[in-house]
Amino acid sequence: MADKKVVIVGGGVAGAILAKTIQNQANVTLVDPKEYFEIPWASLRGLVEPSFAERIVINHREYFKKGDLVVSSAVNVTETEVVTADGQHIAYDYLVIATGHTEPIPKTRSERFDQYKEENAKIKSASSVLIVGGGPTGVELAAEIAVDFPDKKVTIVHKGTRLLEYIGTKASSKTFKWLKSKNVDVKLEQSVELSSSSEENKTYQTSSGETIEADIHFLCIGKPLGSAWLKETLLKDDLHADGKIKVDEHLRVNGRSNIFAIGDIIDVQEIKQGVYASGHAQLVAKNLKLLIEGGDREGKLGTYKAQPPISIVSLGRKQAVAQFPFMTVLGRLPGMIKSGDLFVGKTRKDLGLQPNVKKS
Ligand SMILES: Cc1cc2nc3c(=O)[nH]c(=O)nc-3n(C[C@H](O)[C@H](O)[C@H](O)COP(=O)(O)OP(=O)(O)OC[C@H]3O[C@@H](n4cnc5c(N)ncnc54)[C@H](O)[C@@H]3O)c2cc1C
Repeated sequence: MADKKVVIVGGGVAGAILAKTIQNQANVTLVDPKEYFEIPWASLRGLVEPSFAERIVINHREYFKKGDLVVSSAVNVTETEVVTADGQHIAYDYLVIATGHTEPIPKTRSERFDQYKEENAKIKSASSVLIVGGGPTGVELAAEIAVDFPDKKVTIVHKGTRLLEYIGTKASSKTFKWLKSKNVDVKLEQSVELSSSSEENKTYQTSSGETIEADIHFLCIGKPLGSAWLKETLLKDDLHADGKIKVDEHLRVNGRSNIFAIGDIIDVQEIKQGVYASGHAQLVAKNLKLLIEGGDREGKLGTYKAQPPISIVSLGRKQAVAQFPFMTVLGRLPGMIKSGDLFVGKTRKDLGLQPNVKKS
């Protein structure tokens, strides 16, 4: 059983959980352009408190001890192998695509820490901060800065008609009011011309002709889906126009018996959440185990059911806005679920690690 080759492309939430779960059941290779897994929803706390990053940036080798780790990007896939940017050809019996979203971030953990420290120093020395984008990243970052540095002037400029458009209108309006109460200026239905600013001239023009003064800005407009590398491959017809991968009920790429896809990149109709990506990984771990064991297991494969639109957006260290199936609440109660530790201890435990990093 352990000689079957499973290649997982993408070491984000879905890929990391899957690699951890199946490392003893097959000959597993994890392909990721960086040496570490980073807990995405905790990174904004890392910007206001860089020491927090020590728990959220986890070398893949800490939880994935058994298989092979290839630190490079996948650039092609054939019926039998994955090709990486550094020229490696990695053979597979089973392939799992988990390339969620991409962004250029450093290769090593220590370089990533340096980046957190630099960004933190910029925030500390700025009197005013412009945040472009009012989705979950923009809102959580604005809230982190407004709570930890109440004297700084924070402005969010958002193109859409409301904040947090991926969830309901109640969450948007409650969040808008909360940000206002923290003196965050929210400008909706406007965009910003970033090239209108320079080092000396710290002003930005919006599409409505307003001028915003800000010492620094953060671009929080969402990262691109990580499927561009598949566009010229044998899977090119399995992509929707928006880049999502078509999967069947077992989370296999449509019509493929040995290629799965999991996480934010798949076309299951549910909001994109790490907790769901982790659920995809658990299901595919079970399905892979069945297939690897051999015999006629097709009828036994587990099926995936889209999850309801539940989401919690943290608002600083103590509060949050949460959308549950029958209600939307903002305040300390949802904050108690997410905002203190941002699920970091839980995610570390899911990866088989101690919730805290031992000080050396
Ligand atoms: C601000 C914010 C708050 C959030 N809060 C929550 C929350 O409270 N709860 C929750 O459940 N979810 C939350 N989410 C959503 C959650 O982070 C995502 O749903 C989750 O990260 C998706 O996991 P993934 O593995 O599919 O993709 P990702 O985490 O995006 O990982 C993709 C991985 O693939 C790698 N990759 C990309 N291209 C290639 C390639 N060509 N070759 C090799 N590797 C590649 C990337 O480097 C990365 O490691 C939040 C997200 C944000 C931005």
